[in-house]
Amino acid sequence: MVCGRLSVTGRRVCVMDTASENSAGRAGAARPASLSPSRAADFMQCPLLYRFRVIDRLPEKPSAAATRGTVVHAVLERLFDAPAAERTVPRARGLVPGEWERLLAAKPELAELFTREDGSHDEDRLGTWLADAERLVERWFTLEDPTRLEPAERELFVETVLADAGPSGLTLRGIVDRVDVTPSGDVRIVDYKTGKAPAPRFRETPLFQMMFYALVIWRLRGRIPRRLQLVYLGSGDVLTYDPVEAELLAVERKLRALWEAISLATETGDWRPRPTKLCGWCDHQAVCPEFGGTPPPYPLPVVPAPRAAGDGPAASGEGSQGRMDEV
Ligand code: SF4
Repeated sequence: MVCGRLSVTGRRVCVMDTASENSAGRAGAARPASLSPSRAADFMQCPLLYRFRVIDRLPEKPSAAATRGTVVHAVLERLFDAPAAERTVPRARGLVPGEWERLLAAKPELAELFTREDGSHDEDRLGTWLADAERLVERWFTLEDPTRLEPAERELFVETVLADAGPSGLTLRGIVDRVDVTPSGDVRIVDYKTGKAPAPRFRETPLFQMMFYALVIWRLRGRIPRRLQLVYLGSGDVLTYDPVEAELLAVERKLRALWEAISLATETGDWRPRPTKLCGWCDHQAVCPEFGGTPPPYPLPVVPAPRAAGDGPAASGEGSQGRMDEV
C-alpha cells in the first residue's frame, strides 16, 4: 500500500503501490508500477524486502505501534471536522476509542493484537494501548494549535508521472497528512509521526519522504512548497525544512536512478538481501537467505542480466544495487 496506515475515515485513501499489469507471473504477483516514499525507502534499506512486499506481496503481522499510528492519524484528521473552538484535548481524546472501533470493523484481523494465547480478549492490554494513543493525541496540542489551523487538505492523495523515466514513465504517489496554504499561496506540507524524532544522523529517511512529497506537489502545482514539517508526537518535537529547487531536482534524479535499479532487478530477478539492524523488525526472516531461509520462487519472467566483459557471475546484480548506494 502507498500508506503505512490503514483506511478508517472514509476520506483517507489507501491505494496499492503496485499494479497487476503482469499476468504471466504467479497469481497475486505484479510488476512494480509506481513508487511511494515508503516503498522507495524499502528498496534503499533492502532490495529483497522490497521484492517480498511489492512483488510477492507476502503477508505481514499487524503491529500494535503501526495500528496505533493509524488511529492517531485518523483522530488528528477528524478533529478538523469540528469548528475551530471545539478542537479541544477532551474532544480529541474522546475520538480515540471510536476510531479504534471503526478501524477494527474494517480490519477484524487486528483483534489478534489484543487476544491472549488462550484466545481470550486482553482488555488490559487494549486499555493500555488506547491510553497511549490518547497521550499521543494530547501531546499534539503542545506542538500545534488546531484552533488556529484551517488545513487546505487532509490525507491528500497525490500522484504525478515523470514521463521521461523509462519506457512507461515513473509514477510517484503518496498520501500527505496535511497541507496548509497561506493567503499568499505558500504551501506547508505536514506529516505526523507517532514515534520519536530520530537523532540528526538518522533524519535522512524522513526528510527524503518529505522531499518526495514536495517534489510531487511542485510538479502538480508548479510551485515549490515553502516548508516541510515533521511533527513527532512520540517525543514532542517539530522538525522543519525549507526545500529549494536544486534539492528537489536532486531528489528527482535519485528517484529516477532508484526506479532504474528496481526495473533492472524486476527483469533479472536479482533481489539481494541487505542485512542491517532493521532486520530485527522484518517479518520475512524465515524466507531470507541471510537467516537461513529460501525465498519463494520468483513469480515473474526473468531475462538474463546484461554483463560487461570480464564481470564475474554476480556483476549485474551488484551493478543495480551499486547504483543504489550512489543515489
Ligand atoms: S531479514 Fe533483513 S536482509 Fe532479510 S529481507 Fe528482511 S530486511 Fe532484508
